[in-house]
Amino acid sequence: MIDVNAHILLIYTGGTIGMVENIETGSLEPFDFAHLNSHIPELQRFRFQVDHIVFNPVIDSSEVTPEHWKMLVRTIEGNYDRYDGFVILHGTDTMSYTASALSFMIENLHKPIVLTGAQLPIGKLRTDAKENLITALEIAADKDSVGNPIVPEVCILFQNDLLRGNRTTKANAENFNAFKSYNYPNLGKSGIQIRYDRKVIRTPDYEKKTIFHYRLDTRIATLKLFPGINKHVVESILSMKNIKGLILETYGSGNAPLSPWFIDAIREIVKKGVIVVNITQCNIGMVDMQRYETGRELLKAGVVSGSDATFETAIAKLMFLIGHKYEKEEIKIRMRVPLVGEMTRTDDKVNEKI
Ligand code: ASP
Repeated sequence: MIDVNAHILLIYTGGTIGMVENIETGSLEPFDFAHLNSHIPELQRFRFQVDHIVFNPVIDSSEVTPEHWKMLVRTIEGNYDRYDGFVILHGTDTMSYTASALSFMIENLHKPIVLTGAQLPIGKLRTDAKENLITALEIAADKDSVGNPIVPEVCILFQNDLLRGNRTTKANAENFNAFKSYNYPNLGKSGIQIRYDRKVIRTPDYEKKTIFHYRLDTRIATLKLFPGINKHVVESILSMKNIKGLILETYGSGNAPLSPWFIDAIREIVKKGVIVVNITQCNIGMVDMQRYETGRELLKAGVVSGSDATFETAIAKLMFLIGHKYEKEEIKIRMRVPLVGEMTRTDDKVNEKI
């Protein structure tokens, strides 16, 4: 039920959603957020209060960096007690990265943080912006019968899909249903009504305080395999100085070529202390390095399974864990287990002792 006394903070970071067409030039320009109500008069029909904060400058989400994630967390921390929920308007291009990062940076979240955006600017006739914004605000203000928020998670609402943020990927650059969560069910679906699937939504421990984290380490590299990948390319990526973590994008259930030069190069960087995480190029399913010889060799070389984590989540989680300066072994353990529902637990941790 929507709490009519709710206070929601709307944070506008930029992206297509906040653009209007300049009638004279035809180009897209950010609209003045002070005039939000005139662009979306429907907002006045909400009985709850919506305040807003605008990033200065507003940015296309391709410009997002971990500094922006920290700005968002700071904004939420500074307003946490005053508001019942937060809606973040964000460009779609990197929304899944931001949602993933926030899910790690805000521990034991008690309140909804709903990210949304649009494929068409708010000032266009066929825009999806209004519907997305209005639905996101409703979700942020929705409470259960005892007054707890229904979705105390970092989530993405896009078109009809309410998804756990750290499970999402931008999968479509064209259609209105831009985001997918391949390995975790929808938290909800919006149609005539918003229907939640309460059993897949996390319940925080309301006795425990929410903790805001700001340490992230960006010394991370990625290596995406493809048939015929050149030895020199691999070696130059793996010999980069000052790398603390590597996301290895493998095939299928976590497989890579058995060529000795490749396995040796991986073994070498693991020995140097780099955390190497194996995630699959497939959208659906998880890494199981036990299944084929081509995966077992990686396991033996000390590579950690990323299970069914998305690329976006693997990046954010590694930045977060390395930033917290845990011992290397501790980081490996934490990479293998879900911290905030970002991946499915695997049995690899039992077997990874090969
Ligand atoms: N390039 C834009 C952005 O991500 C696209 C969008 O908002 O959909 O900021």
